[in-house]
Amino acid sequence: MRNEFDVIIVGGGAAGIGAARRLATHGSAALLLEAASRLGGRAWTQELGGYPLDLGCEWLHSGDRNAWVGIAEKSGFPVDRSDPPWTKAHPGIARCDDDEAAARKAFSDWEERLGQVAEGSDRASDALDPGGGWNAYVRAIAGFMSGVAPENISATDYTAYDAASTGRNWSLPLGYGTLVTASLPSTVNLRLSTSAERIEVTSNGVAVSTRAGTVNAKAAILTVSTAVLAGDAIRLPSGIDPWREAAAALPLGRNEKVFLEIGRDAAFEPNSHAYGNLRDARSAAYSIRPNGWPVIEAFLGGEGARILEEEGPAAGFAYVSAELAALFGSDVASAIRPLAATSWSRMASIGGAYSCALPGQSQARARLARPFEDRLFFAGEATHPFDFTTAHGAYDSGQRAADEALAALRDGRSFVGQAKVVTTAGRRA
Ligand SMILES: Cc1cc2nc3c(=O)[nH]c(=O)nc-3n(C[C@H](O)[C@H](O)[C@H](O)COP(=O)(O)OP(=O)(O)OC[C@H]3O[C@@H](n4cnc5c(N)ncnc54)[C@H](O)[C@@H]3O)c2cc1C
Repeated sequence: MRNEFDVIIVGGGAAGIGAARRLATHGSAALLLEAASRLGGRAWTQELGGYPLDLGCEWLHSGDRNAWVGIAEKSGFPVDRSDPPWTKAHPGIARCDDDEAAARKAFSDWEERLGQVAEGSDRASDALDPGGGWNAYVRAIAGFMSGVAPENISATDYTAYDAASTGRNWSLPLGYGTLVTASLPSTVNLRLSTSAERIEVTSNGVAVSTRAGTVNAKAAILTVSTAVLAGDAIRLPSGIDPWREAAAALPLGRNEKVFLEIGRDAAFEPNSHAYGNLRDARSAAYSIRPNGWPVIEAFLGGEGARILEEEGPAAGFAYVSAELAALFGSDVASAIRPLAATSWSRMASIGGAYSCALPGQSQARARLARPFEDRLFFAGEATHPFDFTTAHGAYDSGQRAADEALAALRDGRSFVGQAKVVTTAGRRA
């Protein structure tokens, strides 16, 4: 099996595939190592109940400047540009319009106050209205956005994403994960179920160990999540502590999904949306019959996602079924059945949903994105200055890291010798 490459990419999610595509256009010999038995990482479409449902990324956020839109169109993947379900409330739900308006106003007031907080403590919870009646709602929505409680959100980081977002949210009826995994160029060598266990920088390049042996290259691009990087699953060179510390300042939040199948006779409005309970910070957002399919997708963030992490899928199904019964009436219980629940935070090779800078730590993204000794290059959603938490931010970061590696390669800066990577098993290449 070949063990000499120009660049080794560690991690086959959106960032790793972004890097691979750039390297392929430059004719570099690239090897992609992926710990899991599938490509995609947090981009994962599964056929559930006969429908391609996205367990991770689903929305082409900032669709009008999202690289995946162009890739989809070039490869013949349909892109749905219609408004997302959360812009269309499910009709006929017993709810109070005044309460909904008040809750939404409380959230936008909180977001507005974040600007001032960013100049002070930078702790997003300091923008909550003390004793405010809608703080549970603000916490729930902040949980969807960041996966953590406002106490652990940097106001500067949060507002950087918001300021850059174009507010266009498009979708891929065949699944975001389907597109991401189909986008690895065939010229890139791929080894699935192959974990990089140790990466060393030597006078000759980088030496990396895997259970299946050693792979050599001139440089490596690391795209693993911040939870993996800050943990001890990969032994990295001495001197890398500032990168590990930056990763630890960008922990992954909690976001999970629960999918339910609807019995054919139940009358749910297609492509609509419902919010569980305005007064419960654990509450889920419900996408009802996406693409007209007989499915309900519950999205839980922060405190709500902890139900799944700590108590397991059965508790998640029970929680969302109770919320749906409160919204649609108790008859709903006989019309829905559990389909699947995610467990991103329990997945060892990922460890959560997406990164969120701790208060005062928004600069950690730039610190994490720096090359290490012109041999190791860092990509992944967490390294993007403003499109973090997204699959398009991850893709762009992979392309940026590949450009950095190619520039170092051209200058001969990192290529006095070779980079060497050590893994666990092999499939292709
Ligand atoms: C529930 C949920 C909903 C989301 N919704 C959206 C959305 O609607 N829109 C959006 O844009 N984004 C969304 N996201 C975020 C988006 O999915 C991620 O930001 C993006 O996919 C991250 O890509 P990445 O390449 O940076 O990381 P990952 O996808 O985590 O890729 C890293 C890869 O590295 C692998 N790996 C780990 N350790 C090793 C090792 N030692 N050796 C080799 N490989 C290793 C992992 O298995 C993984 O495949 C969502 C995420 C979640 C969890």
